[in-house]
Amino acid sequence: MLPLRKNIAEMAGYVPGFQPQEDGWIKLNTNENPYPPSAKVREAIIAELGAEGESLRKYPDAASKEARAVAARLYKVDPEWVIMANGSDELLNNLIRAFAGEGEEVGYIHPSYSYYATLTEIQGAKIRTFGLTDDFKIADFPERYEGKLFFLTSPNAPLGFIFDNAYIEELAQRCAGVLVVDEAYVDFADSSAMQLVKKHENIVVTRTFSKSYSLAGMRLGLAVARPEVIAALDKIRDHYHLDRLALVAATAALEDQEQLRLNVDRVCNVRDCFSNELRKLGYEVIPSHGNFVFAVPSDRDGKRVYDALFERKILVRYFSDPLLKHGLRITIGTREEMMKIKEALTEIG
Ligand SMILES: *Cc1c(COP(=O)(O)O)cnc(C)c1O
Repeated sequence: MLPLRKNIAEMAGYVPGFQPQEDGWIKLNTNENPYPPSAKVREAIIAELGAEGESLRKYPDAASKEARAVAARLYKVDPEWVIMANGSDELLNNLIRAFAGEGEEVGYIHPSYSYYATLTEIQGAKIRTFGLTDDFKIADFPERYEGKLFFLTSPNAPLGFIFDNAYIEELAQRCAGVLVVDEAYVDFADSSAMQLVKKHENIVVTRTFSKSYSLAGMRLGLAVARPEVIAALDKIRDHYHLDRLALVAATAALEDQEQLRLNVDRVCNVRDCFSNELRKLGYEVIPSHGNFVFAVPSDRDGKRVYDALFERKILVRYFSDPLLKHGLRITIGTREEMMKIKEALTEIG
């Protein structure tokens, strides 16, 4: 027997959403953005690469200086308050490594992003999940939560609602440890906890470029927090975690806020129209602050609709979890894609 750590041997491992490799699918299952990224991203990558790819010979800037400076300006903080990352998943992982030792507790809401649990298991820390009340507050959250970290996905995925800032501030005060606000979808929402980082020393905000910036394939994320937290995350990360192309892509994407706005407005328009169409078809739809909707058919049988869509080569996300199996999470694609899924759903009934 090889000496695998017990928690690694026993854990199941995270299963990412299905990524079909052949064409012909309408892919609405992993919340990717249907539109291309800013043209400036492509230009920056090509310029960085050079005619012969010669820049790749040399290591990238280990400190991500430029991207951090641009992000800092955007969020109105000093650059020591920002760290870039190889996808926001890297940040979630390193936050756990920084704050939760073996046997210590990490909390999160179920349903939200179950990857927190996988990362916690790898660390050998303990998971505690909390449910939701009917009005989307945390059920039975203690007056004083003693866990080392609490992950708050806001907007929530897969349900799509958002926690308001007054509630997030209350939670920060009740958390003895760190409150991580995972804002993967916040660009599609109408509020953000970003500015609370300055007011509450235990709030960390994480963002990803995978959804609103159309850069899931680049693997980019960032976090904003007090310099002490950022310094700790800097110690833990791989030193060259971001390659040269990713670094210039991050800077170009952050600098083009105008394109981000156009992209996000388009997605939100399609989302709101599609939500209304679904309601006309008899679906219950939670008002969404993300680039997806959680939709419940009238017979509350998500699997039936998932299978019927799958037969038509339309992929959405079905969760067999008892709290989610009555519905489906549908990513917002292009207007044309949403017309097609609407037609399919009309047919399926
Ligand atoms: C997509 C997503 C992430 C991961 O983002 P990456 O930057 O692609 O690693 C993190 N949290 C939530 C809630 C997400 O939906």
